[in-house]
Amino acid sequence: MPTVLVLGGTGEARQLASVLLPAHRVISSLAGRVADPVLPAGEVRVGGFGGPEGLAAYLAAERIDAVVDATHPFAARMSANAAAACTAAGVPLVVLRRPGFAPRPGDAWHRVPTLDAAAALLPSLAERVFLTTGRQALSRFAHLTRLWFLVRCVDPPVPPVPPRMTVLLDRGPFTVAGETELMRAHDIGALVTKDSGGEMTSAKLDAARALGVAVVVVDRPPAPPGVPVVSTVDEAAARVARRLTGEN
Ligand code: NAP
Repeated sequence: MPTVLVLGGTGEARQLASVLLPAHRVISSLAGRVADPVLPAGEVRVGGFGGPEGLAAYLAAERIDAVVDATHPFAARMSANAAAACTAAGVPLVVLRRPGFAPRPGDAWHRVPTLDAAAALLPSLAERVFLTTGRQALSRFAHLTRLWFLVRCVDPPVPPVPPRMTVLLDRGPFTVAGETELMRAHDIGALVTKDSGGEMTSAKLDAARALGVAVVVVDRPPAPPGVPVVSTVDEAAARVARRLTGEN
């Protein structure tokens, strides 16, 4: 049975593990950032590999036949490491990236290239901000002492963080009704999100549109060059099957 390493931390990675399992040995890898992660079916390993060299050594030691990088679209370092390690070890790699958020009629999103650019823009947009960019991003907003933030993340944030904030520990999926109520209750003027895409967290965009809340969308980093990218779990599974039989 061929062995597939799924670099995870996303809902798609969990779905892919289940789809591949009947015909493959599947090892899912998690970074270990979340205290109580939702676990995929199959084998799971947790923690960094030790850079591209560490991952290349792991691929050889575990006799991995194919790798799917199904990490979050913003996990750029892991994606770069996977590309380098798979090239070095001669192991086929496929990147699974869900499509980004798509604006609808009535949306006038402020698209920015980085979290820092989002922070620079915020004071001109609103005083009360709903920040959904993850706890690791909070330090980028810590200098905005005049703004108030509603911060939603999975685990408690650690300093540096904005001085005026309320933390809401929660993970999706979220509903439009719930997001509308949340933003209304906190009198939110602007929402900041990464362009993560996916149904789990898109309700906030619908709610913001209905409430007239300004939306700042941080663009994704590019996928590693030269690596095939697919956007659905089924495409990833099909691509793995083809790569394992020597096709492109
Ligand atoms: P990152 O900055 O790209 O990666 C930093 C380091 O963490 C990597 O060099 C690697 O350590 C380790 N790592 C990351 N993902 C790993 C995985 N799946 N398995 C084993 N080690 C991993 O990653 P990040 O942005 O901190 O994201 C960490 C994890 O959280 C990812 O699995 C991602 O899918 C998930 N996630 C990220 C976000 C986000 O917004 N960035 C949102 C939701 C979920 P070594 O170099 O030691 O191998």
